[in-house]
Amino acid sequence: MALVAIVGRPNVGKSTLFNRLTEERRAIVDDQPGVTRDRLFGTVEWTGRTFDLVDTGGLVPRSAERFDAAIREQVMLTLEEADVILFVVDTLTGISDLDAEVAGLLRRAKQPVIVVANKADNTARALDASEFWGLGFEQMFPLSAVNGTGTGDFLDAVVAALPEEPEREEEPDVPRIAFLGRPNVGKSSLANKLLGRTRSIVTEVAGTTRDAVDARLRIGEGEDAREVVLVDTAGLRKKARVRENVEFYSTLRTERALQSCDVAVVLIDGERGLESQDARVLREAEAMKKGMVIVVNKWDLVEKETNTARDVDRMIREKMGLIDFVPIVFASALTGQRAEKVLEVALKVFDERRKRVQTAKLNEVVEAAVRRQPPPSLNGQYIKIKYASQVRDEPPVFAFFCNQPQGVKESYRRYLENRLREAFGFEGVPLTLSFKRK
Ligand code: GDP
Ligand code: GDP
Repeated sequence: MALVAIVGRPNVGKSTLFNRLTEERRAIVDDQPGVTRDRLFGTVEWTGRTFDLVDTGGLVPRSAERFDAAIREQVMLTLEEADVILFVVDTLTGISDLDAEVAGLLRRAKQPVIVVANKADNTARALDASEFWGLGFEQMFPLSAVNGTGTGDFLDAVVAALPEEPEREEEPDVPRIAFLGRPNVGKSSLANKLLGRTRSIVTEVAGTTRDAVDARLRIGEGEDAREVVLVDTAGLRKKARVRENVEFYSTLRTERALQSCDVAVVLIDGERGLESQDARVLREAEAMKKGMVIVVNKWDLVEKETNTARDVDRMIREKMGLIDFVPIVFASALTGQRAEKVLEVALKVFDERRKRVQTAKLNEVVEAAVRRQPPPSLNGQYIKIKYASQVRDEPPVFAFFCNQPQGVKESYRRYLENRLREAFGFEGVPLTLSFKRK
């Protein structure tokens, strides 16, 4: 999908615009203390086209001492990654020195740049916006991110500026696997190891975004051979060029890769264990209902005693709390130990995620579970689960029909989920249990 990036100095209204366009409430995606961050990444649909939108304002801390450097970085990243750039300025203040500097950097852009003259809340201010033609770009739209005035024409222009979508055959049977994790955890090493070992790289499919290259490879032999797509291997290779702000870059890449994959393979550093950022990516993958695998990489560096793997496994599961259904593979991208195993496990998770459970079997399990432990009553009212059915797959969703759907407690939902996993597996697959009135 094409990527549209919002740039501009602080306080011009970038995040307000982002929220208006994505119509998403600001979701906190990072619960590390002190680094609480607004959502930076979303999807926009307009007249039948969809595109990804990123608010690069997250790159520039509001308290930054070196604004200029941070903004320069924000712009450079955008020049590398985006298909269309939205340069936001403020009609209340007019052209500032920083605006002029950003404009200077953006004039190098090969992609279309659209100037957004924000805070044009009324006609008079929209007229003031004409000064921004002076920035030297071909397209300029006065609008108000706060009240929505002018956003329709503007969005028409954004959509018109998007690159053609390349023809990509829908191949629902070919798993799309993304390697995620912190910088330097070994994602590119693992991808390259696999690309080097598996003989038949079928094709490299170019995506819309510059250099978003998915590599396709075949694993196994003969009848059992299967193809998989490694999402965005170019992003992994290219990373070396993006020296500054690797963190933001990797967040951006992670978001995009997560969105387009079936199975998220999250690498963690065997020497460091599960860190809060790793947990965040895992939670995000779970929220997006992707298949999930954890790879403890750099296993070659870990001093091992008899039960080291078991202990690390347990430690990770304890830290992950509710997401304990994810398979863990101990690997080394450097030596290649269990590199193929990673793909095998990811494939298994892919298959599990498309699995359908027969209604009769499901109800046997649910009935037994309810008999063993009925739902706790709510204000003296019995909660009765009448029957269940799997209403969709990829990702799987189970509907439970009952008399008091809102009375089913989270703890009981967990109980049922665990019984489903015991009976049917679904390893690495987030399950959705929804309770409906019947
Ligand atoms: P950012 O730093 O560029 O992300 O800017 P914000 O989105 O946080 O907005 C900065 C301030 O400008 C906030 O107080 C917003 O409410 C205000 N603002 C944003 N868009 C508009 C607009 O269209 N009109 C007016 N009047 N104020 C706006
Ligand atoms: P990325 O940023 O996640 O793509 O990480 P890279 O693949 O670039 O790896 C970062 C560094 O860690 C490189 O120096 C790799 O050689 C090294 N590395 C990656 N995987 C392993 C591993 O399994 N064992 C060891 N010892 N080093 C590794």
